[in-house]
Order: sequence, then structure tokens, then C-alpha cells
Amino acid sequence: MEKKTEVIEETEPPSSTEDAVKNEDSEPPSQSLKEECAFYDIDDYLTALAKYSKREHGYGRLSSKRLKFIKKYYPEISISEWNDWKWQVKNSVKSAEELVKFVNLTEDEYAFIKENQSILPLRITPYYASILNGKDISYPLTRSVVPSSAESLISPDEQKDPLSEELQSPVENLVHRYPDRVLFLVTGFCSTYCRYCTRSRFVGENHKCDNRNQVFEEGIEYIKNHNEIRDVIISGGDPLTLPDETLEKVILRIRAISHVEIIRIGTKVPAVLPQRITSGLVKMLKKYNPLYINIHFTHPDEITDETSAACRHLADGGFPLSSQTVLLKGINDSPITLKSLFQKLLSVRVRPYYLYQCDKVLGTSHFRTKIQEGLEIMKNLRGFTSGLAVPNYIVDLPKGGGKIALLPDYIGTEENGEFTFLNFMGKTYKY
Ligand code: SF4
Repeated sequence: MEKKTEVIEETEPPSSTEDAVKNEDSEPPSQSLKEECAFYDIDDYLTALAKYSKREHGYGRLSSKRLKFIKKYYPEISISEWNDWKWQVKNSVKSAEELVKFVNLTEDEYAFIKENQSILPLRITPYYASILNGKDISYPLTRSVVPSSAESLISPDEQKDPLSEELQSPVENLVHRYPDRVLFLVTGFCSTYCRYCTRSRFVGENHKCDNRNQVFEEGIEYIKNHNEIRDVIISGGDPLTLPDETLEKVILRIRAISHVEIIRIGTKVPAVLPQRITSGLVKMLKKYNPLYINIHFTHPDEITDETSAACRHLADGGFPLSSQTVLLKGINDSPITLKSLFQKLLSVRVRPYYLYQCDKVLGTSHFRTKIQEGLEIMKNLRGFTSGLAVPNYIVDLPKGGGKIALLPDYIGTEENGEFTFLNFMGKTYKY
């Protein structure tokens, strides 16, 4: 049998929108891999695999939908500019005039955004705007990031700081609620702002990290002086919006504290700015393992090719990945939507961790479901999909009471130590 020497044809990533659009009919990766692995010996196989893996982490292979969006709205830019996270941040959508190009708004919605009456500013990366493109405010992901007049309705039980984080901050920007762990808020900036953000008092363009150095040093001193702290959660805002050097300084200083065993990063970047997950970032973070990354996801439509590539890239870096999701009315409050999200997350190596009841932060009552509805959703997940795809349903108690996990009630009666249980199908069993 003749040995095949050339397994793959070199396919350079498109250098411009024009080139990329020409290539839009290229095969999806699974098909390409199959063909590329038509090898005859192990060397050819390894060559094919190395090239394939390299492409998996790149963002050169954009979907035709994304390419058409770029060509229509940013015809002057190259694909490498689009894939540059700094370009994405710099060119984010921040006004009603820009937003209306992508999202169908009514006159009232447009006027509300233009008057800028919300606590949280509007900011959406062009990448995330491409997902909302052509949709209106009824589309779940539009609702999650586009301001609406419902935010002006403040319920009596809503608070600026619903979890009393400031009362549990021994120094500014560091929350010490639980015995062995702290939450360290290192930036108030996010590349895209979620309308239901628990920390809307803190995040935004004029966030409270202006005096970052002094506040940061106080936080580091506090962690150093408390031997009981073995777990530090770096959050904000979104820490992955910091430049590599700044982020490394933060992690390095925490890692140098001998009693800190675990560092966690909380981020929404892989969902809203996947271009940020560069090889340079992963290489830098790898130096500080064990490092856990907890990613905020809202809806299955966020699991695009780019986001999948970003998650795989992080997973290959050796970071255990988990997700947290806020249960939101009209966005993801159905077992079908959440099952799809959690299953997709597992397929990109992210373990669903928390499903949060929406906190009672100012102007968010339109997003809040009843706890009974959340329990009903959990009942429709457990047993009906892999246990790995079922997160803990969490209520973060007001006034700093902390997180509690809620479970549907499976216990029937108890008699002489024998329990009657209902299984996931509602059938009765004794134990
Ligand atoms: S990414 Fe997190 S911190 Fe930033 S706006 Fe969304 S919920 Fe708030």
C-alpha cells in the first residue's frame, strides 16, 4: 500500500474579512478531523493531530454567521483585529445609537437607554453583539445585557448590597464571610455588563478600584495576617479583563502566601470575550496551579465555537473549570434551556457547579423566579440527565447569611427508622 506523505493541506487562517468570507464553506472541525486522519502510520497521525489541536485553540475558523456580521458592521477590520481581545474591549457597544444597529429596539426602549438611567452602564463586546444581532429585547441574551425600563422599578425588599458584602469586608474590596476563604475584588470592570449583577453597586465604568494599589496592598496584608485563609477567590468585576502583567502580579502575590492552598478566578470572559483566552494568558496562569476557574454562563446560545475553543484552551492548561448560572425569568427559567446549557458545558469540559436564585439587588424583580419554580426545574434535571450536568441550586441569603443548597423533597415518611422515598419518576421506595 502506498504511504501517504502529505496528510493535511496547509490552511492559513484568513488574513482579512474578505478572505475569510470566501472560505466560509469550509468543513466543520469534526468533518475535517475525520478526513485529515486518513493516515497510514503513527507519524502521520501525530502530525495531523498536532495541526488539528493548534487550530482548535485558534479563532481563525469563524462561523459564516460571524463572518457575515464582521463584513457588514466592521468591513474595515482584519480577522486578526476581530480576534484581538483589546480591540473587542475598545470597540464595545456603549450607547443606544450603536446598539440599535444590532438589536431591534422600540422607541421607548431606545429612549430609556439613551437617557442612561440605569445603575449599571451599557457595555457589550462586538463579539457578544454578533450573537444578539437582529434580535429584539425578547431574545434571552438581549434581555440579559440590554438595559430596560423595568430596572427603574425598585421592590421594597431589594438592596444596593443584597448580600451585605460591605459589612463583611474587613478591608476594602475583600469579603471574609466564611471561615477559610475570602473573596478578593480586584477590578470593577467587565467587558459586558449583566443587567442582574449582584455587585452593580461596585462594577461599572467609574468603579471603586481607582485607588487600586493601596486597596490591593491592604487586601494582600489581610490575607497574609490570617492563617486560616486557605482559599482565595479572585473576582470583581471580571479579573480576566486585566492585562496579563497586572493579573500575574495579583496571582503571584497571593500564591506567595504560604497558607493559601487554592486560588480561584471568577469570570464571564469565555462567554462574552473568548478572544481573551490567549496562549500567553494560559501559559502565565499555568505557573500558578492549582488554579480553579469558575465561569459565569447564562444560556446555551453562549456556547459558540469561539467559547468552546476558549474553554478547551483553559481545560488543556490544566485548570479545573466549573460554571455558575443565575436563574433568570424569561431568560433561562426552563428545564429544557438549562438542561441544554449544562449538557453543552460538559461537552466543553466545564462542570456545572451552581445555579443561583437571583439576588435581591436593586431593579431586578423582573428577573426573579419563585424558589418553588427553581426547585421544580431541579426536579426536572436530576435523574433526567447525567448527575455531572446537575449543579447545586443555591440561595445566597440576604444580610450575609451565606449560601445554602436547596433540593427538591424526595423524603416521604419515616417509621421505625424506615424511610419512604420518592424517586425522580415519582415512584415510592422504602429504605
Ligand atoms: S460579569 Fe459578573 S461582575 Fe460583571 S456584570 Fe456580569 S455578573 Fe456582574
